[in-house]
Amino acid sequence: MKNRVDAIRVLVVDDEQNIRDGFERILTRIGCQVLKASRGDKALEILEKEGAAIVLLDLKMPGMDGMEVLVRIRKLDESILVIVVTGYATVETATEAMKLGAYDFISKRFEPDQLRIVINRAWEKIRLTQQAERLEEKKRRTLSDLDTENSRLHTIMEYLPNGVVVTNARGQVVLMNPAFRQLLDLDSGLKPGGPIEDYVPDKDICNLVMEISQGKHVFYDDIPDYEFAPSDEKYLLAKGQPVLGERKECLGAVINVVDISAMKVLDQLKSEFVVKVSHELRSPLSTIHEQLALVIRDMVGEVSEYDQHILVRAREKTKGLISLIGDLLDLSRIEEGLICHEPKPVQIEEVLKNIVDFLKTRAEGKGQTLTLALPRGPLPKLTADPLALESIFGNLITNAINYTQDGGKIKIKVDMAGINVRVKVTDNGFGIEDRYLDKIFERFYRVKDEKTRYITGTGLGLPIVKGLVDSMGGLIDIESTPGKGTVFTILFPTEV
Ligand code: ADP
Repeated sequence: MKNRVDAIRVLVVDDEQNIRDGFERILTRIGCQVLKASRGDKALEILEKEGAAIVLLDLKMPGMDGMEVLVRIRKLDESILVIVVTGYATVETATEAMKLGAYDFISKRFEPDQLRIVINRAWEKIRLTQQAERLEEKKRRTLSDLDTENSRLHTIMEYLPNGVVVTNARGQVVLMNPAFRQLLDLDSGLKPGGPIEDYVPDKDICNLVMEISQGKHVFYDDIPDYEFAPSDEKYLLAKGQPVLGERKECLGAVINVVDISAMKVLDQLKSEFVVKVSHELRSPLSTIHEQLALVIRDMVGEVSEYDQHILVRAREKTKGLISLIGDLLDLSRIEEGLICHEPKPVQIEEVLKNIVDFLKTRAEGKGQTLTLALPRGPLPKLTADPLALESIFGNLITNAINYTQDGGKIKIKVDMAGINVRVKVTDNGFGIEDRYLDKIFERFYRVKDEKTRYITGTGLGLPIVKGLVDSMGGLIDIESTPGKGTVFTILFPTEV
């Protein structure tokens, strides 16, 4: 019990010294800090200066009447609990004091236990009041935090330069920001609530948003970015993500839309520039290449071995440059969709036989075996540009030869995988580390390590292969183990 009233400050107001001392003794024993006043005006002074949580107030004192003091204390601080002490504890005086705001009363002829009970009750009341105040304060803070959080989110959404639209699990728009309206040229009065098709004019992206909203793409990585053009000169890029609830259930989708028109224009200018420069360089370089061949032929025996070596190196370098230019032009044509324009039915076995025959000499020059495994019966014809197929397999098999040690094995295998024709180009060469597997399809990317450092190349072969396979609606995949070899798998959809 002692602990509960620890350090609580009690002011005893009584004109009789022995009563004041009696109160002090008992209160100190139960752990209260005691202040004393013999008159009402002094009591008020102490309260103003030092304060107290409880006042034990004698109602009968000379000078200011106890009731008057009570009223003044209440005015000073309503939270002070006043317990009136009366020599003649009549019901009327007690009721009157209570009406004026006294908390409790006790007779002057109290038993120590009675005082303890009254003080404990008062202390309990103070504690509960403080607790309630703390809870109220906490509630106020939480509410104001929520308010601030909401308005912060609202402001971020409003002023975000990217367009943002949020849908529910049924693909209905629940939220969109001004940037989204502006990017899609939507009427400023158009409200959320309708299906996504009412806001986005592109059918494919609407289907994607619908799929994401319905939880068909739970892994963030498998959601493709989507480019679309709502008007002739505007290109937008949309990235979608599912919105997941606490139990990982899909609640809808959030789509971020960015304007990439400027990037598209830049890309176009860059491509035009590359094509122009490549064309300009091609003929003079071819001439130099031919002339170097003549010089080397005519000078045999007439110049030193060293000079001849330099001329041969120069010729090799011009050949490398011509091949780079060829690759750049191919890539530009693929990117502009100019290749595969007139596809025709092709028997892929024939194309592969020709390429393998052509490259066999090169493989044998390195002591490698190059084999082609065909299925027993004929394969369905592919609708494709034969030149594109030649470019795809020419690049893949040349790479296999280049990035495999002397004496290695290269195998091309063709079969059916469902309705697709599947071609596997396998080598037991240097292999590629996992971390480079995505990068090698980027333009100009070449893995440079001890084994590949001295192999010449442009870093454009695989981007060309990927561009061509994509343009035919096919798929390319790679598996590789450093030191063991690489397998490129290509799937082409058949005519069916
Ligand atoms: P290039 O062969 O002209 O360097 P590519 O785009 O054809 O350019 O290939 C990019 C890189 O991928 C190569 O530099 C090489 O490091 C790696 N690579 C391609 N094919 C293979 C392969 N079969 N085995 C090992 N590495 C390969």
